[in-house]
Amino acid sequence: MNELNNREKEEFRTSISFIEQFIAEDIKEGKNEGKVVTRFPPEPNGYLHIGHAKAICLDFGMAKKYKGKCNLRFDDTNPVKEDVEYIDSIKEDIRWLGFDWEEREFYASDYFGKLFDFAVELIKRGLAYVDDQPADLISAQKGSPSQPGTESPYRSRPVNENLDLFERMNKGEFDEGSRVLRVKIDMTSPNMHMRDPIIYRIIKSPHHRTGSSWMVYPMYDFAHGQSDYFEGITHSLCTLEFEVHRPLYDWFIDQLKTGDYRPRQIEFNRLNLTYTMMSKRKLLELVQEGRVAGWDDPRMPTLCGLRRRGYTPEAIKRFVDLIGYTKVEAINDVSLLEHAIREDLNMKAPRVFGVLNPLKVIIQNYPEGKVENVELVNNPEDESMGKRLVPFSNEVYIEQDDFMENPPNKFFRLAPGMEVRLKGAYIIKCTGFKKNAKSGAIEEVYCTYDPETRSGGNASDKKVKGTLHWVSAAQALNAEVRLYDRLFDHEDPSGQKDDDYRKFLNPDSLKILTGCKVEPSLAQAATLDRFQFQRLGYFCIDPDSTVSMLVFNRTVPLKDTWAKVNR
Ligand code: ATP
Ligand code: MG
Repeated sequence: MNELNNREKEEFRTSISFIEQFIAEDIKEGKNEGKVVTRFPPEPNGYLHIGHAKAICLDFGMAKKYKGKCNLRFDDTNPVKEDVEYIDSIKEDIRWLGFDWEEREFYASDYFGKLFDFAVELIKRGLAYVDDQPADLISAQKGSPSQPGTESPYRSRPVNENLDLFERMNKGEFDEGSRVLRVKIDMTSPNMHMRDPIIYRIIKSPHHRTGSSWMVYPMYDFAHGQSDYFEGITHSLCTLEFEVHRPLYDWFIDQLKTGDYRPRQIEFNRLNLTYTMMSKRKLLELVQEGRVAGWDDPRMPTLCGLRRRGYTPEAIKRFVDLIGYTKVEAINDVSLLEHAIREDLNMKAPRVFGVLNPLKVIIQNYPEGKVENVELVNNPEDESMGKRLVPFSNEVYIEQDDFMENPPNKFFRLAPGMEVRLKGAYIIKCTGFKKNAKSGAIEEVYCTYDPETRSGGNASDKKVKGTLHWVSAAQALNAEVRLYDRLFDHEDPSGQKDDDYRKFLNPDSLKILTGCKVEPSLAQAATLDRFQFQRLGYFCIDPDSTVSMLVFNRTVPLKDTWAKVNR
């Protein structure tokens, strides 16, 4: 699925329109005085991944398109799983994608007071009760979609007793898990979420923002919709799994609202990608079990991982655009994401020479100690990126697999008696080589060059079939190159029966090459700068890089290794 034909592109483009249509309809009807207010509502319990980018692009994108606003709201209802580390990373990642929530940074915990008061109000109206049963019993009484639930023996507890118990739950008088507050809706509803859901539970761990002010915390479902309401959100865009929660959210708003206004929830399909997984819980396991180097390991589908891998925000947004928003769950091909980054870096990344597995070539008729600076184009796709000078001398490195002692037919690289062009420099001819008697490894290759064949000069129009990248030995910089590949070798590692995604971890997802050689212009490169190593792929500078040892991460290999190489 690398290339999309025009028809497919058109289909993808129109697929967003169902959400836009709803929004446009509302504006036309003058709902909410024609205003659009959206929000991106992460739970601060993990790092953002590319699935979140899909939601972010929509939330911020719709607000921008319809001259509205998009809030950032942390749905921080579970102090046990949350951490400020996550809050900071989430903000960094959204900014990196290029979106701005201005001063509108909100927290569900800002509304704990209002939510508590609302819960008290529900108790007073006879719509909520304290249940003393343990969680497993409550859940067993819920029944199943085909079987009605059973009412709790505490369901008709008097209002005063409920009020007293709820206040005491919040004072810390009872143990965690000993009591919960539930709303009284309908234990026979075909929608399981309407069967007297729990809205408050006792948690005694301190909260990262409210400290120990609260001993009871609202459930996500009790906080999310009301927070949207408190913020005046007009369109709550969320993923499909919330469709079945919508009647419950509506029920809460029905009890709360005083006028016509209510947020309109519109659901769309989640982003799933082949060869990876999106569950924050499982990604956390990978980190905790040391199966990856951290949340920002370049193999992770997290935004910080993709950033470290060399991905650009533009490529991620382009990918999100290509897959579009629908009502059908699907799994998207990761090669489409790779296509998007290649397309973007093809335009943006300067070309450089880097040799991953060096083999020394000695050009015997080139004067020892002489250095010529040959001029190379930084990006044939974009002249404005200019040119650079690259030193050439009598000793250069080429890739080991660009030389063969006994080449098959159609091997258009270097072999005894064969000629190739060193890109941007001269045509050389192989005259011999040195082989390790024990191991059989080729240790050096000997060549002569033809001084009449310098690239860009008009002395010779001699043509050869092969063109190689190279780095002059004396000026080469040392580098370590980390070749990343897909983290899993199964298309859907977490969707299998026993859920053991670990057995699908790709043992070859990281290969570290030391002893690589790169051209000296790379001494100027900064962390996360991206390059195309010609004929090899796109690479970026890892934060581990130092002056004495440059460290590169491979973003993606080039799809077509040979197509772009010419004189
Ligand atoms: P959790 O299982 O912890 O709830 P989550 O992936 O739903 O994880 P949230 O922090 O709740 O994480 O997500 C914030 C927003 O991002 C939600 O509105 C959610 O719908 C959206 N979102 C999460 N995952 C995806 C995904 N794979 N594709 C598109 N949107 C997503
Ligand atoms: Mg969630």
